[in-house]
Amino acid sequence: MNAPAFAPLDAAIEAELLASVDALEPDLVALLATLVRFPSLMGEETSAQDYMEGLFRGLGLKVDRFEVRDDDLKAMPGYAPPTGHWARHDNVVGAHLPRATIGRSLILNGHIDVVPIGAAELWSAPPFEPVVRDGRLYGRGAGDMKAGIAAYVIAFEALQRIGMQPAAPVWLQSVVEEECTGNGALACLHRGYRADAALIPEPFDHAILHAQVGVIWLAVDVYGRPAHVLNVKSGINAIEAAFALYQGLTTLRDEWNRPERRHTAYADHEHSINFNLGRIHGGEWASSVPTKCTIEVRCGIPVGMAAADGRAAIEDRIARTLQTDPRLAGVQHRVRYAGFQSEGCVVPKDLPMMQLLAQTHERVMGSPPGWLASTATTDARVFNLYGATPATCYGPEATHIHGIDESVSLPSTLKVARVLALYIARWCGLEKRGR
Ligand SMILES: [Zn+2]
Repeated sequence: MNAPAFAPLDAAIEAELLASVDALEPDLVALLATLVRFPSLMGEETSAQDYMEGLFRGLGLKVDRFEVRDDDLKAMPGYAPPTGHWARHDNVVGAHLPRATIGRSLILNGHIDVVPIGAAELWSAPPFEPVVRDGRLYGRGAGDMKAGIAAYVIAFEALQRIGMQPAAPVWLQSVVEEECTGNGALACLHRGYRADAALIPEPFDHAILHAQVGVIWLAVDVYGRPAHVLNVKSGINAIEAAFALYQGLTTLRDEWNRPERRHTAYADHEHSINFNLGRIHGGEWASSVPTKCTIEVRCGIPVGMAAADGRAAIEDRIARTLQTDPRLAGVQHRVRYAGFQSEGCVVPKDLPMMQLLAQTHERVMGSPPGWLASTATTDARVFNLYGATPATCYGPEATHIHGIDESVSLPSTLKVARVLALYIARWCGLEKRGR
């Protein structure tokens, strides 16, 4: 890459661009509300992606809509086996191609899929009927991460409104499967998308992501021994055994969190590696000792550990627990993998794309950004590890993502749009709008 150092943006253009973003604030809020109304749960993203396709066309982008096909991705590094079955689901990419490429190319990526709503009765309002209150928009996916998608769309549109466009290729990507496998982002790589940088506006409260842990999803089938409840002692309760087995597995988590095992990016984190017993399914009815119980578990793994090594350590700890815990004598088990098989990654803070983001944040917010070493995974790993595209996350402040009454700050989302608009202008350079 021989592009010159980042030229400061002409002061008049900068002011005009920021005013253009601010003038689009009502559109930003309306777009976010529209996106939240689509219940784009796993495998149900079609209506939301139809909308994104129309939105990208409306911006004059060349649209590439393509199916995320398991068979295309199986041989790729970073692939994860799917967690469910669906007829078909698509990624949607809008491409801007400049008249002349002067600056660096950019991917603006967001996931359209949202996590399950949890117990509906706990929500103050229905999760897919957005509510604005006290400067926040509530609804499933509002923060994670439809606000980020709305912010990059508005940032791009703000440039157009002042008669400008990026002087480098920019791809706006709306992907599926971020929350369970990452295969949506992987399908973008399979399709050939690469850039000089990728930004993902995940809701990390204006901190810049510089590290993330790995994540493995697995299911363990635990088999007990059936018995009538009048003779409980002759049986092994598969549900109780599964819970004991999970407790044994958590000793691995505790080892990985020991200070001497921590990656330097996590020096300040007491507990960056988390395991979650997310789902349990077992038993037949109230009067039989259950014969089978399946637990679904999410295990964080340390940065620098290969997914295969993480799996081996997990399987070894399960086997050792079965051998040593007297409550588990005679228990049979089977381990299966579906969902994330993700390695951690580090994004060096001194990369040009990171430095420019920090500068742009400071320009808009008036103080330097925080840096985030995340205890979760994001699609940034896919671009960084397998796509030769340095990628990070930078997005708005949100609360209760994956929880109840998820919400995102609207002023924060507008500020993210301001940062992204200035970032596009400086990373890509600008040219007059038109073909
Ligand atoms: Zn997310």
